[in-house]
Amino acid sequence: MDRASAFLKKNLETMPPKKRAEYLNRRLRGIIQHAYKHSIAVRNKFDSAGLKPKDIQTVKDLEKIPITKKTELMELQKKNPPFGGFEGVPITELRRIYVSPGPIHEPGESAYDELGWAQGMVAAGFRPGDIAINTFSYHMVPFALQMLDNSLHQIGCVTVPSGVGNTEQQVNILKALKANAYCGTASFLLNIAEKAEEMGLDLRKDLNLKVGCVATEMLPESLRSRLEEKFGMTIRQGYGTADIGCLGYECLKKNGMHVPEDKIVEIVDPNTGKQVGPGKAGEIVATTFNKVYPLIRLGTGDLSILTETSCPCGRTSPRLLKILGRVDQSTKVRGLFIHPGQADEVVSKHPRISRYQVVLTRKEHKDEMTFQVELKEEVSQPEKLKSEIEQSIRDVMKVRGNVQFVPNGAIPEGAKKIEDRRTWE
Ligand SMILES: [Zn+2]
Repeated sequence: MDRASAFLKKNLETMPPKKRAEYLNRRLRGIIQHAYKHSIAVRNKFDSAGLKPKDIQTVKDLEKIPITKKTELMELQKKNPPFGGFEGVPITELRRIYVSPGPIHEPGESAYDELGWAQGMVAAGFRPGDIAINTFSYHMVPFALQMLDNSLHQIGCVTVPSGVGNTEQQVNILKALKANAYCGTASFLLNIAEKAEEMGLDLRKDLNLKVGCVATEMLPESLRSRLEEKFGMTIRQGYGTADIGCLGYECLKKNGMHVPEDKIVEIVDPNTGKQVGPGKAGEIVATTFNKVYPLIRLGTGDLSILTETSCPCGRTSPRLLKILGRVDQSTKVRGLFIHPGQADEVVSKHPRISRYQVVLTRKEHKDEMTFQVELKEEVSQPEKLKSEIEQSIRDVMKVRGNVQFVPNGAIPEGAKKIEDRRTWE
């Protein structure tokens, strides 16, 4: 079977940039009109910002609309249950209501037409006729049932709704049905691998997994390649939220996560809400074209970078580079936004570092950033290593920082990657 190159909606996925911008702006105007008319919460938001739908013509205009944070969505839902007035259709027209931790409610539409997860699975090599086990939870939350199950059906895959846990039974299902596709977390796939080996099975001969779509947790490259090697399969990841659905998916080129055509993803400065432009880190803010639950500028609290460079797979959508962490773990130093993902990147360039912590202090009314560093072993030229690491800090974080070598064990277990000790007295 050719799993190499396919699209769910080729005409959309390969639109040239100008056509893509026009397409997104047109759909944006449509959903803004709809949301303003049918969603009380969106109308209130526009009214209190002094906006009318005609003020939003382009993706750039989205900056005028205040971001809705998850906490605000939760509070509004508490005041005005179940959806806080964000719903865009009468509740009686829904097929299901989902309850995510929080608690936070999500409406389940009767005709599911979200593109993202189905696009992602096709890009990951899922094909019609594949037998897929879906090991995400089918209870309460929308992901497994609403989003993945429907998307697998949309592609023409056969789904085994196996849900979470029961590892031994999952192995037996994989074997009996010769299932060739997996949906779940990467860590649970590792559990399955270990259980199958414990049961004396050969992962490549006795099982038949060829493709996997993983999500909901960070995917270390070491874990991905270990699983791909063990099973002889390819694994691609997707990223999204329970409220909005898929916001990014990897193609086989493994080149970042393509943004699906039924969402708008902005990367913004979390303090100002302004778009930061490609290549710069900021909060992922999402807008969906879903008329049932038309969330406009939902702040995900996750940090990433958007790139618009071309991808050899042929898709022209912008891509989210990896998720860098949470906004609440990030901070500003001398006016520049820094986050733990950048500090990790600095450290990854210097294999002699075993542990580190970034400490922020104030000296003579100026921010100081110090990388406290524990080394794996003593080095012969510590001054040279120190200045190399300081150069990496400037390159990656665009801000000057000092390096201080500390004895092993000086950084407490479980210490925050960025420790802010600044006071403004
Ligand atoms: Zn691609």
